[in-house]
Amino acid sequence: MKKCIAILSAFITITACAQNVRDEAMKNDDLKSKLTPIQFHVTQEKGTERPFTGEYWNHFEPGKYVCVCCGTELFESETKFHSSCGWPSFFDSKFTDNIKFQKDFSYGMIRTEVLCKSCGAHLGHVFNDGPEPTGIRYCINSASLRFIPLKK
Ligand code: FE
Repeated sequence: MKKCIAILSAFITITACAQNVRDEAMKNDDLKSKLTPIQFHVTQEKGTERPFTGEYWNHFEPGKYVCVCCGTELFESETKFHSSCGWPSFFDSKFTDNIKFQKDFSYGMIRTEVLCKSCGAHLGHVFNDGPEPTGIRYCINSASLRFIPLKK
């Protein structure tokens, strides 16, 4: 009887794993059809666009920036500032409930990664060298964002 339960339990685990792999593959296919290659690479593979190449590094129209994958609100134009780094930079977000932070030890550095809390998309990193009043700098890839202009 115990053997039967163990076999059944193993079967259920394997089936659940296979389902998870299928779900993940379907999610990836869906995102691949919806995103450009650089958007997919940055958001799903924790990539980084080359500086001064993204759509928004030098973009200062009034509006808000949402997650390119799921549309969650992330940043507003009021907290965007001119930084010389070549990526969209924000000194604050009023949508911090929509943002997830996690330690990133890649490339021999200790950084804080910024992700979309809803879908887990990689957005960029946050640093402590931003301007007043917060002193922080969200360094975000354009490829992770979609801009929604303020309605006039
Ligand atoms: Fe998202």
